[in-house]
Amino acid sequence: MDSILRIAIQTKGRLNEDSMALLTETGIKLVASSRRLISPAKNFPLEALFLRDDDIPQCVADGVADIGIVGKNEVAEQQQMVEIIKHLGFSKCRLSLAIPKDDEYAGLEWFSGKKIATSYPRILKEFLAANNINADIHFIAGSVEIAPGIGLSDAIFDIVSSGSTLVSNRLKEVHNIMDSEAVIVATPNLSKEKQAILDELIFRIEAVEKGRGKKYILLNAPNDKLDQIIKVLPGMTSPTIMPLAKSGWSSLHSVINESEFWEVIGNLKKNGAEGILVIPIEKMIL
Ligand code: AMP
Repeated sequence: MDSILRIAIQTKGRLNEDSMALLTETGIKLVASSRRLISPAKNFPLEALFLRDDDIPQCVADGVADIGIVGKNEVAEQQQMVEIIKHLGFSKCRLSLAIPKDDEYAGLEWFSGKKIATSYPRILKEFLAANNINADIHFIAGSVEIAPGIGLSDAIFDIVSSGSTLVSNRLKEVHNIMDSEAVIVATPNLSKEKQAILDELIFRIEAVEKGRGKKYILLNAPNDKLDQIIKVLPGMTSPTIMPLAKSGWSSLHSVINESEFWEVIGNLKKNGAEGILVIPIEKMIL
């Protein structure tokens, strides 16, 4: 039987949306909606298994799924035997300690003897031990940020992204313990066949990543201005130049970074470029 790579994806929430968008960008189409537990892909030897994010590290470690997309925070908390094989750069957040906003804070000693509510007790316990802080850890599965307000704890250790949840609960972030983002984890000892499918998947993801933030640019220019124009055009290797039907003119094609976009366009116009077209790049294979 042909091998199929099984990928665990979060059932709902921001990791689900970003993971599904990534699969779509790699050209992989799943048969059914994310409401079903398992969806096979139509055009790639892969099937998606939809799980709660805190179940993903264990399912991958046990080999129920071969790989999974999950937050690095969950991988650190669950301490399962999985290997992080790729950082994906989305669903970025940090795990931080936060205290009531009006409390004075002079340093980590503040937490000695205090009660800290969190959904990440293992990460917190290790951090406190490494810093010789004796505090009481109170586990709550969700809505951690309301704990100090209802008298359940003195402080919290939780996920922070923009920080607005902390502000609306009259808390302030005082110490960042770890940064997190979505990662791909894999079960140890994948079979050769599954490893080959995973390699192809990673190859496609990297092609999508390389295309991000890049634009394809086409422009027309008189031949005597080409040298100057090439100097202001930071291309992948060197630009493509093709003659136009209009004599003495050429069409020039290249790739530019979105971050340098307006500066490059300004310089191109100054140097005599005309008819500038800018096109998004979906994927880039170098
Ligand atoms: P914010 O108000 O933007 O700081 O977001 C805080 C809340 O959003 C946290 O309490 C989390 O429940 C959730 N959150 C933010 N970023 C992430 C993420 N990358 N993964 C999972 N949950 C997140």
